[in-house]
Amino acid sequence: MDNPGQQSSYSQEQGILVPQIAQSFRQLPISLVVNLANGFVLAVVLWDAVPASALLAWSGLLIAVTGARFLTLRAFTNASPRSESDHAVWTKYFLAGACAAGVVWGLSGILLFHPSSFPHQVVLAFVLGGMVAGAVPLLSSVSHAYWCFAIPVVAPISIRMMLVGDRIHLVMGLLMIIFGLAMLATSVRVHRLFRDSEKLRRELYSSIEVAQALEYLVRLDSLTGIPNRRLFEEELSKEWARAKRDNAPLSLITADIDHFKEYNDHYGHPAGDLCLVEVAQAMYHTLSRPGDVAARIGGEEFAFLLPQTDLSGAISVAEQIRERVLALNLPHEASPVARQVTLSFGVSSFEFASVASPADLIRTSDVALYEAKRCGRNQIVAARKTASELDRMIEKVGGE
Ligand code: GH3
Ligand code: MG
Ligand code: MG
Repeated sequence: MDNPGQQSSYSQEQGILVPQIAQSFRQLPISLVVNLANGFVLAVVLWDAVPASALLAWSGLLIAVTGARFLTLRAFTNASPRSESDHAVWTKYFLAGACAAGVVWGLSGILLFHPSSFPHQVVLAFVLGGMVAGAVPLLSSVSHAYWCFAIPVVAPISIRMMLVGDRIHLVMGLLMIIFGLAMLATSVRVHRLFRDSEKLRRELYSSIEVAQALEYLVRLDSLTGIPNRRLFEEELSKEWARAKRDNAPLSLITADIDHFKEYNDHYGHPAGDLCLVEVAQAMYHTLSRPGDVAARIGGEEFAFLLPQTDLSGAISVAEQIRERVLALNLPHEASPVARQVTLSFGVSSFEFASVASPADLIRTSDVALYEAKRCGRNQIVAARKTASELDRMIEKVGGE
């Protein structure tokens, strides 16, 4: 059975591997520059104090390891890995680089340790302490990377100090160990901070996604799946403002299923629902232009918003919609109009001066729809402007 402690730490780490390793590689250039700069300073300070062969061998090792870590960084950047398993492999490379650097710096604690010059020993201890402290923010985001680096750095010089045998070296060795332990504890805290902030960031993003999905859902009609009245009204006021600003045409079609009450009475309410879905989907898919909106605005009422479309264009779109629904050939035995489900349409357009607001656009389109019903249904009527009495300015323009 799995250890529950292990499980929870796994789930805490799950999902943050990708940002962890990406963050670590992003910071690697700073780390490499610091390695070379501190190595150079150490070499200059110890130039006459330690055997040249030891100094050259150590410098060569440092350059080789730094170069290898740089090549790993380039390979990581070129590969731009995406999956968690890819990142697990790159984490191993990163850890190997951190360990190798730790071993090289740890070796300096033995190879470059001046046996008799206390000031040189202090400089060496100071540089190594600086490396260990500076690596905390650079290596703590990946689990264990800091440990891999810091332990090999601190252990050799501490032991070497204590091996000298006098009290002052003993104390310095112990201080190095205490300092190393303090840095390890700090690194654990920094790692947790990174993990928690990454978790919070992910939670924030997912709650934003959920909120966006909900925002989207409340604007969809639950029965037919097409936009609802809310979305339609929002789009209408947006498109109205845009059309006014650009002096561009904007048209509206309203549609209503003919004798739908009789349909329900004849076939039953569930069949009526299915019919609504089929009609809605067919009409929705008739609109092709981006910006067009098809919405269910009432029981068996629909509206179509057509930006950049004038009245004659809207009439032809209405005709396409009417024909598309006729092509479904949905039987309607109880309809006095036809043997199949039909719709009546009203069309109105922003281009007429009598339409002065979004509400006017809806009202004139509704008046035209009413006229289509009055004239026998299964047809399209457009609202046309004359000087007076808008509600009487209805002209039959299409249909059967
Ligand atoms: P008209 O040709 O004049 O439009 O006649 P109509 O019968 O379609 O119009 P009316 O407004 O009298 O009736 C509309 C009917 O639409 C009433 C109601 O039963 C039905 N209806 C409204 N919403 C739904 C719905 O969500 N599902 C079902 N199955 N029927 C609905
Ligand atoms: Mg109705
Ligand atoms: Mg109706």
